[in-house]
Amino acid sequence: MSEIITVPTASDINIIDRILDRALNGDDISAADALTLLTQTAPEIIEQIRATADRLRHIQVGDTVTYVINRNINFTNICEQHCSFCAFRRDEGTEGAFWLNTEQILAKAADAVALSATEICMQGGLHPGAKINGRSLDYYLELVTAIKTTFPQLHLHAFSPQEVEFIARQDGLSYEDVIIALQQAGVGSMPGTAAEVLDDRIRRVICPEKIDSATWIEIVTTAHRLGMATTSTLLAGHIEIPNQQVAHLEQLKQIQQQAISFKYPARITEFIILPFVGQSAPAPLRRRVGRDQPILADNLLLTAVARIFLGNYIPNHQPSWVKLGLEGAKTALTWGCNDLGGTLMEEHITTMAGAEGGTNQTVADLQGTIRSIDRNYHQRSTLYELI
Ligand code: SF4
Repeated sequence: MSEIITVPTASDINIIDRILDRALNGDDISAADALTLLTQTAPEIIEQIRATADRLRHIQVGDTVTYVINRNINFTNICEQHCSFCAFRRDEGTEGAFWLNTEQILAKAADAVALSATEICMQGGLHPGAKINGRSLDYYLELVTAIKTTFPQLHLHAFSPQEVEFIARQDGLSYEDVIIALQQAGVGSMPGTAAEVLDDRIRRVICPEKIDSATWIEIVTTAHRLGMATTSTLLAGHIEIPNQQVAHLEQLKQIQQQAISFKYPARITEFIILPFVGQSAPAPLRRRVGRDQPILADNLLLTAVARIFLGNYIPNHQPSWVKLGLEGAKTALTWGCNDLGGTLMEEHITTMAGAEGGTNQTVADLQGTIRSIDRNYHQRSTLYELI
């Protein structure tokens, strides 16, 4: 995408102007319009797209850049699945496999509280042996209860749609049963991970054992209906093509439109692009993609198009400093993003894939990055309330 640079014709410029004007007037642009923007290669047009995304960010959410003080806890990397981009998973009993006990998890949560964290983000591998009294749900509820009993002030942002499906499948429950039980135990919101690309042709290659697109959408929509907010993600920059990226954005938009029109008590809070990092990923996909680190230019154009296409529905857009590095994430703040994410304190999944962004950031680092582009910062909660 980024290697071919063309000189735009007058008609190209007219088409782009019309699309960007429509967006700046507050109107929606179509998926076809988004695809037109996403396939531009002329630097002056790309700059026009960037400037429009930046302007829309200003109009839709203002100039303050937010961040959250949080800690990532991956309770196990033992996983029944074999996603072709995943360098995190292990089989039980093999080198590097881990499974934290409650004491270890509480020690990590205590460290987070000592650093003023407001959120624990908890996800893990799909470990069939993780059960209490023969039930997966009881194991997950025990994790939640242990943290919430000891640190009731922490917001638990936990368990992806794939984990919800795993628990439901293991125990013969409905998705609704699982979400309600997690919610009642103290889970506050659901990470919108495992979305990868919501296109089953892509999923059959990169995550063939994962839930299909329709199931991901069903679980996220069920969460919204039950009052559990979710985030949303796109794993970009591997084998997918721009049409599939735009179709993914369109599906996120429709999920949010449904939550709005049916007045569900919760919605998608933010959108995050997760650029593919191939360095330590399993060899077949790494070879097929042919590069180890994300292409920043492609990521930035997609970031801008996502703001222009989704901003009327999902106002908060966050770059991944883990994947892009803090410098790349800082640049994305001028391409439509308004949030710098969390301190994380301990990131495993992407770091094990070979990402060079690091495993944690201090609050001072996040604040300094935001100030370096002359924007103000503000700490937020998981649900985007200012703290
Ligand atoms: S991405 Fe998640 S589900 Fe897929 S193999 Fe890795 S840990 Fe398992």
